[in-house]
Amino acid sequence: KKFKYNIKNMIKNINNEKIKVIGAREHNLKNISVDIPKRSLTVITGPSGSGKSSLALDVLFTEGKRRYMESLSSYARQFLGLAKKPAVEKIEGLCPAIAIEQKTVGSNPRSTVGTITEIYDYLRVLFARVGQPHCPKCGEIIQSETTERISELLLSSKKNKLIQIKATIAQEKKGEFINTIQTLFNQGYPRFIIDEVKYKFKDLQEIENIGLKKNFKHNIEVIIDNITVCDAELTRLQESIDQAFNLSGGSVIIEEDDNKLLFSKDRCCLKCSYALDEIEPRLFSFNSPIGACKDCHGLGFISFLHSKNGAEEDWDYIQKYLGASRVCKSCKGKRLNEKALAVTIDDKSIIDVCELSVFEAYDFLENLKLADFKKEVAQELLKEIINRYSFLKNVGLGYLNLNRTSRTLSGGEGQRIRLATQIGSALSGVLYILDEPSIGLHQRDNDRLINTLKTLRDQGNTVIVVEHDTDTMINADHIIDMGPGAGIHGGNIVAVGTAEELKKNKNSLTGAYLAGHKKISVPTKIRTPQEFLKIIDAKSNNLKNIEVDFPLGVLCGISGVSGSGKSSLIFQELVPALKERLERNYNDRKNGNNKYKLENFESLLSLVVVDQSPIGRTPRSNSATYLGIFDAVRALFANLTESKIRGYQVGQFSFNVKSGRCAECSGEGTITVQMHFLPDVIIICKQCKGKRYSKQTLDIRYRQKTIADILQMTAQEAAEFFTHHAPLKKRLDLMCEVGLGYLQLGQPATTLSGGEAQRLKLVKELAKRGSQTIYILDEPTTGLHIDDISKLLVVFNKLIDKGNSVMVIEHNLDVLKTVDYLIDLGPEGGNKGGVIIASGTPQEVAECAISYTGKYLKPYLNIK
Ligand code: ADP
Ligand code: ADP
Ligand code: ZN
Ligand code: ZN
Repeated sequence: KKFKYNIKNMIKNINNEKIKVIGAREHNLKNISVDIPKRSLTVITGPSGSGKSSLALDVLFTEGKRRYMESLSSYARQFLGLAKKPAVEKIEGLCPAIAIEQKTVGSNPRSTVGTITEIYDYLRVLFARVGQPHCPKCGEIIQSETTERISELLLSSKKNKLIQIKATIAQEKKGEFINTIQTLFNQGYPRFIIDEVKYKFKDLQEIENIGLKKNFKHNIEVIIDNITVCDAELTRLQESIDQAFNLSGGSVIIEEDDNKLLFSKDRCCLKCSYALDEIEPRLFSFNSPIGACKDCHGLGFISFLHSKNGAEEDWDYIQKYLGASRVCKSCKGKRLNEKALAVTIDDKSIIDVCELSVFEAYDFLENLKLADFKKEVAQELLKEIINRYSFLKNVGLGYLNLNRTSRTLSGGEGQRIRLATQIGSALSGVLYILDEPSIGLHQRDNDRLINTLKTLRDQGNTVIVVEHDTDTMINADHIIDMGPGAGIHGGNIVAVGTAEELKKNKNSLTGAYLAGHKKISVPTKIRTPQEFLKIIDAKSNNLKNIEVDFPLGVLCGISGVSGSGKSSLIFQELVPALKERLERNYNDRKNGNNKYKLENFESLLSLVVVDQSPIGRTPRSNSATYLGIFDAVRALFANLTESKIRGYQVGQFSFNVKSGRCAECSGEGTITVQMHFLPDVIIICKQCKGKRYSKQTLDIRYRQKTIADILQMTAQEAAEFFTHHAPLKKRLDLMCEVGLGYLQLGQPATTLSGGEAQRLKLVKELAKRGSQTIYILDEPTTGLHIDDISKLLVVFNKLIDKGNSVMVIEHNLDVLKTVDYLIDLGPEGGNKGGVIIASGTPQEVAECAISYTGKYLKPYLNIK
């Protein structure tokens, strides 16, 4: 009965063509209901902070994951912990969900692009099956052959030729060998080659007379047969080979004229007698003691700490994070032992293959010429491997190589690798959720990324992407436009439909941009840089010893296809060079023993890198504390008459200090209740009702508002409230200007996105009165709707007008078209990049024939 019921349910689910979300209230979502067509590509878009991730990740993915865990046995569940139920009334038709996020892939030094894509595992099997082993000592080829195979080979390659079959008795070995040779003679072998001289003995006495010197090394071979190769002689041929194997202990020499072939029954070097074990995939694993280099345990580097007297000390390699490291001398960073490295395909070891870029490896394997029998073994494997390489090419990662450790990858690269890996595993019926997969990707590669998303869909999956990219929207089957504003002003579904339908929808801000009714315009006047900072001899990663002039006092864009060297140039050359000059005291600067060559930096006073790392790791920090707004607010409260009467100081108004906070929840506002076998339950503190403060503290009001009320205000509301407090107002206004007006001042830092964190840092910098500062940002448009981008550009220009310089690594063409100066790297990614191919105004770059950026910029600048 139950079985029947399940089947019925399954059929119902298959026929259910939609995922129906009913009554979602997570974070700022306003009790919304929405349908997502299955087996389709759906884009969720809208202004930053409007609730896209809340819907896609916190509602859909969390619930999908939770249901999956519910379906496991309670035994399994106790190890996994339990997922919290999102705030949603119900979801119908939900399938198993996989989120492919931007998070970097982790910090394990053993994890490489090869291992996370699983291509390395396939390569290991390939090398074990068809790799050619060599002796690790002398480099000689090692064959392991059977009698049948050798005779077959001879019949096909030496038909009707006279050959000699010999066995090695001694090789570079000291001794007289009289007994050995006499025994063989008695067994019926009269012919020998001793130290390159041929003998045919008639009796035992003759053997005694050859007089080999005991203390000299000798080479002795016994001739077993001279035979003309033909089908009729097959049995004799095989018998002779067997005899040779027996006499020599596993090898046979076949000679025709001066042509010498060596075969071995065992995997063993005939020169060095180096025996090789069976070759299995494990041999190529740097995570297995069988394959790993003995000295570095498969890490490729050895860590040491500098002790006080300056000597290097070896240190447990696990502690590498603490000390410096150097490349392992035994394996030269290749991680594997010499046995593994001595196995090759087309003269390349497995690590050599992994050193090729994805582009190169794809070509190498496509054009691989293997012997017939090997071809058969390798065919299926090769197909799998080549497929996976092509998935990586399709997500714009052709410039990567498999040896690259995953912790050196950017979040976007990591995400696209996971995407490519998912395509390879060919699941269907899954809900995939991706967060801005276009980040870090040049427009040129975007089409291929979109095709990859479509492939995932066509495999029978439902694909949801949170995205701001116009092309992705145009290619989507369905768009959900959220808004209208951010935070409490958002959380609604403004419009749904195809791109064409959205264009006609008057409610949709996204639609207005899609239709071109709204757009970021090209500035009519741009700044011409008067001064340039010069870096000489830039050579990190793929940079080709280049000299670069960076304009000062303007908005400068750094562009180029992924892997062309933008981050290498900025974060491994320019930033460290500037730090060397600017972050030490002046004396150091003057006498500088500087590693990087930098010229004309004298007009700069400071450097600020505004990145996307979190601003705080505890829920006790928030935007108000980070920006110093909260200090000012607390001082304001402590200064009120009532506070003075009661003797309250600023500490009273901090939820981190005992005196004023709620005793029940220690100022957290919530209480976590641990439930065995059930997920932790977070409940609002009964005592303070989530306000985090004691009743006494909340007695104090400033213009009717308690300190808790102020933490609940959005930046926008607070800016209006504090309109007469210039220093406070300034920071709050700045928050609104960078598009963060929707943020509640008290929202825990741990819940802010990378883009939000980056913009908060920008606010902090803007609040300072500095000039002559150079600001460097990496893809500041991450997470920004086009409407927010136009706001951000205003902020950049303000900074520059105050006498600063701003430099942004960007792919977004709406930004690149408005910069004063553009530096374009390329022409391609990886080894084929690392050169400046154009620089100047966006118009000038657009005219450069070999620049991909230029090509894509043209329509944005109205150039034909
Ligand atoms: P989007 O993805 O559209 O940028 P989000 O879904 O991340 O927007 O955020 C929507 C709103 O919910 C914002 O006001 C954001 O600050 C808030 N928010 C997001 N995550 C949390 C959280 N964990 N706790 C409280 N508020 C949150
Ligand atoms: P972009 O920022 O333009 O995408 P990158 O500067 O990140 O390009 O990369 C340029 C080249 O250098 C690529 O071939 C990339 O694989 C390589 N590369 C980047 N970082 C590292 C690293 N930490 N280790 C080894 N190679 C790297
Ligand atoms: Zn090593
Ligand atoms: Zn409390």
